[in-house]
Amino acid sequence: MSNPNLNAELKEESFENSLRPLRLQEFIGQQKIINNLAIFIKAAKMRGESLDHVLLSGPPGLGKTTLAAVVANELGVKMRPTTGPVLEKPGDLAGLLTNLDEGDVLFIDEIHRLNPVVEEYLYSAMEDYKIDIVIDSGPNARSVQIELKRFTLVGATTRKGLLTAPLRARFGIDLRLDYYNVELLQLIAKRTASILAIGLSDKGSFEIARRSRGTPRIVNRLVRRARDFAEVDGLNEIDDILADKALNALDVDSNGLDDMDIRILQVLTGQYRGKPVGLSTLAVAVNEEKGTIEEVYEPFLIQEGFIQRTPKGRTATIKAMRYMGVSLTDDSGDSDKIKSKGPDLFTG
Ligand code: ADP
Repeated sequence: MSNPNLNAELKEESFENSLRPLRLQEFIGQQKIINNLAIFIKAAKMRGESLDHVLLSGPPGLGKTTLAAVVANELGVKMRPTTGPVLEKPGDLAGLLTNLDEGDVLFIDEIHRLNPVVEEYLYSAMEDYKIDIVIDSGPNARSVQIELKRFTLVGATTRKGLLTAPLRARFGIDLRLDYYNVELLQLIAKRTASILAIGLSDKGSFEIARRSRGTPRIVNRLVRRARDFAEVDGLNEIDDILADKALNALDVDSNGLDDMDIRILQVLTGQYRGKPVGLSTLAVAVNEEKGTIEEVYEPFLIQEGFIQRTPKGRTATIKAMRYMGVSLTDDSGDSDKIKSKGPDLFTG
């Protein structure tokens, strides 16, 4: 029996893959990273060596997986993708490593979630291109050293702080991806629209770009959804009116905050009214995983100045209070008296 969730995920994945830029030149934004990578790749090729190991960090959807594939393409090698949690035992890692050809890229997504035992094995593989595996068990157990072909590990993480120091130290190239500005997101929206063969006006791309949380993955999703609306309305171009209609239908507010962002702000500005809230409490209040709040929602809300991380917990800023329409003059402390008008009524 087919699983509808799995089908939807596979569809989403193949949609994403169809939109991935393949070469450094096609990659939009992150200019400093692209320039540096171009030099490191050229130098490695000139020396006939494999590229140093690369660590890519930053929030989800900013292009880490895409960049790993671009690096492999530029080097003219294959990329073997895997993710940290999938590598349960050293044997899983050994299997992957021994199948690599000279210079190949091994891409490990969510590398902060590697099993510590597997991670230990990765150290010697990264450093000396050797791996010791134990064969047999009990009194017959012995360790056999396998020589590996030289390879480049590209690790991606949304939580660089969770990487152990020894692992971090083994990456020669350490790059952090940042959120994209509206102009770059507009270019990405235009590129996606042209691949999807739908028109997109400047105002339409602006509307989508500024409501995409600085994230190309969200731009792509919104362009696709807006295309659905265009097709149903018999239009062959997404303009700002249609984009606005699609975004509202998807519960993306006028500043690009989604339902979960708003719920987080509601808790911090309403119930707690700017007082510090611990991550666990917040997670329970909004019914979301702690990790997802930390990796997906907080970085953007912090960047936009809506929340702050303090030693005592997360607090809402004055901007967040205003945004949520919470009166700043009422400091009776009685939350019943605090009237939240909701974000749409805020004009300041
Ligand atoms: P991450 O691995 O950081 O979560 P991905 O590499 O999977 O992000 O990117 C998510 C989607 O966004 C992909 O479909 C990709 O094509 C698109 N994307 C990411 N960065 C860019 C970019 N700089 N230019 C164009 N598309 C991009």
